[in-house]
Amino acid sequence: MQFTDFGFDARILKAIHHLGFEDATEVQNRAIPEAMAGRDLLVSSKTGSGKTLAYLIPALHRVYRVKALSNRDARVLILLPTRELAKQVFAQLRLFIAGSKLRATIILGGENFNEQQKNLQKNPQFIVATPGRLVDHLKQRNLFLDGLELLILDEADRMLDLGFADELKFVDDAASHRLRQTLFFSATLDKAEINELAQRLLKEPYRVAIGASTDLHTDIQQQVYLCDHLDHKEAVFLRLIEQKSIKQVIVFTATKADTVRLAQLLNDQGYSAAALNGDLSQSARNKVMNDFMKGLFHVLVSTDLAARGIDIGSVSHVINFDIPKQAEEFIHRTGRTGRAGFQGNAYSLVGPKDWYNFVAIENLLERKFEFDVLEGLEPSFKGLKPKKVAPTKVKNKNTTPDVVLEKVKKNPKKRKKQFHNNNQDGFEAFKMPKRKATGIPLDDSE
Ligand code: ADP
Ligand code: MG
Repeated sequence: MQFTDFGFDARILKAIHHLGFEDATEVQNRAIPEAMAGRDLLVSSKTGSGKTLAYLIPALHRVYRVKALSNRDARVLILLPTRELAKQVFAQLRLFIAGSKLRATIILGGENFNEQQKNLQKNPQFIVATPGRLVDHLKQRNLFLDGLELLILDEADRMLDLGFADELKFVDDAASHRLRQTLFFSATLDKAEINELAQRLLKEPYRVAIGASTDLHTDIQQQVYLCDHLDHKEAVFLRLIEQKSIKQVIVFTATKADTVRLAQLLNDQGYSAAALNGDLSQSARNKVMNDFMKGLFHVLVSTDLAARGIDIGSVSHVINFDIPKQAEEFIHRTGRTGRAGFQGNAYSLVGPKDWYNFVAIENLLERKFEFDVLEGLEPSFKGLKPKKVAPTKVKNKNTTPDVVLEKVKKNPKKRKKQFHNNNQDGFEAFKMPKRKATGIPLDDSE
């Protein structure tokens, strides 16, 4: 479907036109009309398939076309697992609202709290945030979510992996179920934990699942190299990175220390490389990402910090120097390339220490990889024997995605059913509840 066929507000169409996009991607085609109709969504589709616009556009359309429940509270809250990703989404949102009277603010850990507090006092309609810092502000009553209309969790599963379950529940409690619509997005949403959270946060969700999350991305060419030991791995790595076809590359390592060590190794060899990891100050993290996006250096060596969501078109290659411990991170890491229909290449280096993590990935993806070999660097390592595993408990049938969705449908958490007094744009019209007395004076700037 073309973007002009959805009935979007003209200001949105103008921005889309400015971006040069004409046709919606599949996930956009399927998710946007349902989101505009006011439904809760649980959306999974492969990396690089355009999920960000699949939630930003309906959010913008709603804010442009539907009267706010509250002039004070944010109308749209977008939560993301990492600061880098939040910044990227914030930048995209800003492109859309540039020139309008709408306000957006970004709330991230590691940045100035007081400044964020001031920005929140300006009553932005949109907040893009990482969960920890947002909850700090909620606890200090620097913002309220009673009037929230849209709660969006991008990379929802990763937020749980990072231990944000309590923060997400806190946000859920602060934002009225009756009033808000909730959208979950990720390339991987099959975990039991996600179903638990979905059951709590979503009401009668519409499921968009484009391909199994474990289908291998056809735009990414996967190559796997066996390595005997660290020296051999480094030799394989340096040989791979020599290739002229590499525009920009993200190298993933298991440890923060290795990001620094490998970046140094590459710089010593005459490449331009920089390390990204959670030990860097926020300003250093910003600088590294900005410089990489501008193409000021060629190799970004990162922990899983850069595994999710980051969208940089010139990343032609991804190298897994180590194999991720969490199998689904393989899908996300390699998904930093091959975006928006372009081709990408992913190389994975598998040494003895990586072997069982690698097998876990093969099991997750339900496929066996063939191994590639570089001339002069043939490995003698051929893999390890299968691990003897204690018989595992039968998977709890009650937490598989479909069973959980059925449960949510049958028993929408005893929440009130969605209203259906849709206005012309398909969004539901609600009345704002009275705010509980907080003892905090209302901001009178509005
Ligand atoms: P995902 O979140 O699914 O990994 P993104 O939302 O980051 O994917 O989008 C991947 C890339 O595709 C981005 O560069 C984005 O600008 C581009 N893109 C999104 N929608 C379209 C579209 N309809 N047509 C062309 N490119 C698009
Ligand atoms: Mg994304």
